[in-house]
Amino acid sequence: MSKTIIVSNRLPVRIAKENDEYQLKVSEGGLATGLGSIYKQGDNVWIGWAGLDVDKGDEAEITNKLKQENLCPVYLDPEEIQNYYEGFSNETLWPIFHYMSTYAQYEQVYWDYYQSVNEKFKKVVLEIAEPGDIIWIHDYQLLLLPQMIREALPNTTIGFFQHIPFPSYELFRLIPWRAELLNGMLGSDLIGFHTYDDVRHFTSSATRVLPIQTTANVIHKDDRNITIDAFPMGIDAKKFNDLTHTEAVLQEKEVYNQIIGDTKIILSIDRLDYSKGIIQRLLAFDKVLSENPDYIEKISMHMIVVPSRDNIPQYRDLRDDIDKLVGNINSRYRTPSWHPIHYFYRSFPIETLSGLYSRADICLVTPMRDGMNLVSKEYIASKTDETGVLILSEMAGASKELIEAIIVNPNNLGEMYRAIVQALEMPEEEKISRMKNLRETVMKFDINHWVKIFMDQLAAVKNHEKSRR
Ligand code: UDP
Repeated sequence: MSKTIIVSNRLPVRIAKENDEYQLKVSEGGLATGLGSIYKQGDNVWIGWAGLDVDKGDEAEITNKLKQENLCPVYLDPEEIQNYYEGFSNETLWPIFHYMSTYAQYEQVYWDYYQSVNEKFKKVVLEIAEPGDIIWIHDYQLLLLPQMIREALPNTTIGFFQHIPFPSYELFRLIPWRAELLNGMLGSDLIGFHTYDDVRHFTSSATRVLPIQTTANVIHKDDRNITIDAFPMGIDAKKFNDLTHTEAVLQEKEVYNQIIGDTKIILSIDRLDYSKGIIQRLLAFDKVLSENPDYIEKISMHMIVVPSRDNIPQYRDLRDDIDKLVGNINSRYRTPSWHPIHYFYRSFPIETLSGLYSRADICLVTPMRDGMNLVSKEYIASKTDETGVLILSEMAGASKELIEAIIVNPNNLGEMYRAIVQALEMPEEEKISRMKNLRETVMKFDINHWVKIFMDQLAAVKNHEKSRR
């Protein structure tokens, strides 16, 4: 009986030491929930980094605890985390794949560690995997892993999904190790991205860099066929929908209503990242206030920025820039009883997010680049009263599906300004008609649908390959 193995950089779990004993908290994030239907069954397993630096003496205890949850750890030391994860993954691949090439660092030591840590993952996979198994590898930290496993277990079924964009060839070619990365990915049977643009970019890079043949969305290499396709990821939509009716969330909303009354709320939620267009969003909001003084005391922006990667200089600089701009806007427009921007540099529990999503009149999502963007879908799933307006960047993968949003180019300040005014002034019937359609898409194409269509296609691709031989 074959089993399914999920592999990602991080395990879907938080481990903390309390009272001298390790405690596990399994993640309730959308991906973890969707993949839960797979890895929690029978002998299936999820392999990944445990997320903390563990003393050698404690590894057996943690491994044992994780095993009871069908999880299997890869232990990484601080140098590996620094060079493979913070270095190559987040300072080389992340900026290039998000079109910020001037931020990319091409350090040989990062690359050396990226290879050795991918090897380390391979060893853990091979301790568990058998020839007939299905292996689903996730994301840009593990681009070399598919081919490493293919060499050891030539007949295994290997799927790979990349959660961030794949850039156009002109960007991708900048990476000194581009051929190695492509060869690594092409160890898979099926490679998935969020959008057809990513599929096109990948296929075009592969054909320019490597001596391979393609027909439509299939790449022929070493007498194998590799299918490249788009699988736009959904969220746990029912969870966000149902949360809005819970006592905890109703209370959150009640508190907002007492504090902010009928002020119109523009919501902005992101991790701190230069790909998210946070500065551009603030500039557009500034323009709305400066050109429409009537909105003073009538609208406010609630902006959550979740701390992230703040040991990388560009992230620290971005945080400083946001602090300055928020301070500048608040000091210019505030009145004794009103703040234009409520800015939070921290994360919140899901009940608070749900309360904000369902109360917000507008959700402003303006990334410069984003593989998908889940915030935009969570907002829609939380709008059970079918009101609210989503303003969404055309550079987010989600914009390909959420076409009833007001779609903007985040580099076009005037367009973003007009979109905010349009959303503020939109007639109720139009809001409802757009939101109804958006909700149909988000509720139907949820995370479970995504997992199913990827797994079904992986099985179909493999069957086709087998019948060819
Ligand atoms: N999020 C969270 N706590 C917060 C704010 C956001 O857990 O305080 C979550 C949010 O619900 C969403 C995720 O962070 O699921 C952000 O995902 P997205 O795809 O929008 O961006 P990413 O950070 O993955 O680039």
